[in-house]
Amino acid sequence: MSTLREELVEPVSSQTVLLVDDVPANLDVLLEHLQSGGIRLLAATSGREALVLAQKNPPDLILLDVMMPGMDGYEVLKRLKDDIATRDIPVIFVTAMSDSVDEAKGLALGAVDYIAKPFVVPVLKARVKNHLELKRKSDLLAKLALLDGLTGIANRRQLELTLELEWARCLRNGCPLSVIMIDVDHFKAYNDHLGHGQGDECLRAVAKALHGATRRAGDLLARYGGEEFVVVLPSSSTEDALQTAEALRRCVLRQRLSHPNSPVSHLVTISLGIASAVPSKTRIASHMMEVADAALYQAKKAGRNCVRRAGEELEDAGSNGSGLR
Ligand SMILES: [Mg+2]
Repeated sequence: MSTLREELVEPVSSQTVLLVDDVPANLDVLLEHLQSGGIRLLAATSGREALVLAQKNPPDLILLDVMMPGMDGYEVLKRLKDDIATRDIPVIFVTAMSDSVDEAKGLALGAVDYIAKPFVVPVLKARVKNHLELKRKSDLLAKLALLDGLTGIANRRQLELTLELEWARCLRNGCPLSVIMIDVDHFKAYNDHLGHGQGDECLRAVAKALHGATRRAGDLLARYGGEEFVVVLPSSSTEDALQTAEALRRCVLRQRLSHPNSPVSHLVTISLGIASAVPSKTRIASHMMEVADAALYQAKKAGRNCVRRAGEELEDAGSNGSGLR
């Protein structure tokens, strides 16, 4: 399910630091000095073990020894950078190789810092603290970049990323994917009558209602723009999507948001268009949006405050192998 802004202001969870050194005594020293301060500490005694731990549960910072038998620290860093799941984890080299050539090499590979052994404890602790603070900020920015500022739900960018991802996943698994496009009925009239401030309040309330009715963990609710919203439903057939769309429509109606200037109802209502397809290699994900938009147009033509799915002509195309149905 998509994230509402309230979830962002929850107390910050503790951050994790992975310590990597082939000499257990060195790890003990690091563990001893860093264990205070609310940080979760993990330890690995080889490059391979470090990679497995980092991929399984990416830490917020890695303190990495350079000289290790088997895979050295430089190689570990290269592999971390090659993997999308681990490439943004900041890495600090902690090493006895204090030559400036070694330091330059480590930094050029993408380490954020370089600490020479034997290290000065307060300096080590201060650097760890600073890099964790930077990581926390960059995580928050990355999260905000995918959220809609007004409603706190996913924005169009996150929608596009998710749709591409789910399309590829459903293509691999041969399962259907559905998209619901939603439009607030006569929203221009609402704004003209009550003003844009009230219009914003209305969009927030609609987003909240839609969020409440988008229940499955993998479903994504996003603001597409203006008064348009989209729900992506992975592994969902037309029938599943029809049920969800109807639940969304009723949920908004149940908010009983007054609409003083709508020919449809005295309450705020939404129109919904559904596209469902088993993804095929001859189509692209964004085509789903066009099909859902066409279905939404049909819902508006049918009098609004209703759900329509992609039309008969598309169903025919589906049986001819386009994959749309
Ligand atoms: Mg070593």
